[in-house]
Amino acid sequence: MPEAGRAQALREAANALGALADAVARGEGARSDFDRALATVVRAGRTVFGPRPRAKRGAGARRLILAYLTEHVGEDVTGEELGAVSGIQEWARRVRELRVQEGYKITEVADSTYRLESKEPDADAAALWKLLNGIRRREGSGRDRIATLFEARVGEVVTREQMDYVARIKEGVRRQRELRDEFGWPIASYIDDPSLKPTEYRLLSADPADRRDPLQRLYPEELRERVFKRDNYTCQVCLRDRAVAFAAGDTRFYLEVHHRTAVADELAAMPKEERNNIDNLVTLCHADHLRETAELQRRKRNERRQA
Ligand SMILES: [Zn+2]
Repeated sequence: MPEAGRAQALREAANALGALADAVARGEGARSDFDRALATVVRAGRTVFGPRPRAKRGAGARRLILAYLTEHVGEDVTGEELGAVSGIQEWARRVRELRVQEGYKITEVADSTYRLESKEPDADAAALWKLLNGIRRREGSGRDRIATLFEARVGEVVTREQMDYVARIKEGVRRQRELRDEFGWPIASYIDDPSLKPTEYRLLSADPADRRDPLQRLYPEELRERVFKRDNYTCQVCLRDRAVAFAAGDTRFYLEVHHRTAVADELAAMPKEERNNIDNLVTLCHADHLRETAELQRRKRNERRQA
């Protein structure tokens, strides 16, 4: 088609929109008029540039979507617009990539409606994504990779989603529990740290000296939760909770259940009912639990000697 014809097609489209603008200015003009004008615009695009090339894949489309969102920071943008600007139908996936992989804060304000909150991506989020991918590609077992993730994020929240991702399995939570119960890693969950959500975990320390008392395994999760709740998540010796301990610079603070009357060998032998009687149990921080247990042992030894 000669250049004049191509220009003409665009001018017709502009005229259609111009006529609509005049109608709206007069208080007229309906949605259906706009849809007709839009069809004219699409037709002009085809006349001038030919049929749309096959969907631009991956990064190209993602860049186009980001550019459009950036032009409309703080405004609602619909999937329809993103589809138009990127020429692809799977814009939802690209939006997710921008959010998860590049750290852009994009809120889904309604079904298929998004809002870019800030032009600047979150550098931490992007770095975390890099870390997760690096770990995911490693050899070894799923549990090894989850362990690596926790070690790389000591003191930070690790989510179930992240564990499943690096482990390449859906059993991240179970592997995490093995690290805690079998290897004694001090991993907090919402049970012992009310600031965590049920899908969030936190390794308090990677230092072998901070390993958890293996006997904690004897107490069911539901019981641990009741003891901690009753004691207001506060160590009953030093009277600190996690927030207070952290504010004082003790980032290794975590809670354990302490048995008032029994020490290690007695605990395992004790009938379950007696052991799990909540009146015998008290909330202590790990450090005070070590001290209290040593003290209880010393007292028992003395009693035996005197007997
Ligand atoms: Zn304490």
